[in-house]
Amino acid sequence: MMDITQSPSPNFDDRPIDLPIDMLILHYTGMKTGAKALERMCDPAAEVSAHYMVEEDGSIFQLVSEDKRAWHAGVAFWRGHTNINARSIGIEIVNPGHEWGYRPFPEAQIMAVITLCKSILSRHMIEPRNIIGHSDVAPTRKMDPGELFPWELLAHEGIGIGEFEGEASQETLAEFGYDITDWQAALTAFNRHFRPENLLKA
Ligand SMILES: [Zn+2]
Repeated sequence: MMDITQSPSPNFDDRPIDLPIDMLILHYTGMKTGAKALERMCDPAAEVSAHYMVEEDGSIFQLVSEDKRAWHAGVAFWRGHTNINARSIGIEIVNPGHEWGYRPFPEAQIMAVITLCKSILSRHMIEPRNIIGHSDVAPTRKMDPGELFPWELLAHEGIGIGEFEGEASQETLAEFGYDITDWQAALTAFNRHFRPENLLKA
């Protein structure tokens, strides 16, 4: 059972009819409060949105219908595709982010994210390796949802991939889906997702 508060955003358009919804992109809001993020994503001048936003207390808001294209990924790349908004569902997870004081995601929030993801996965065929972070699809521009996001916990719930087997080489990461044009950026994005200890131990 999931309570969802409707908070419609004008920032969407039609999805191309010939594309499947086969990606799920997780973000953090990167603003001081969830209220500010919600306000921004509903402001037509901002021209950004996501399908859902999950507050730190676990409250879930829906901004855009899943059958419409929300504007969350921007310039992005995964497994040869650049039309990421067209084929994905985007969830914004409230956290001030690296700019305003990055902090652990509360348990209530993560439980809500898990419930929401399971519900989305019941409606769309999305492969585990297509459930990724904004930084995975835009490694030179983005850090979200960041190295504190519990990907392994989600993987235990059947959402995405928690562990990457083997060595992180240019060949394996490119094959997995990353744009490795900027190798250092791609490797950092990979570490944020799959080897967060490499960032947290510093
Ligand atoms: Zn993002």
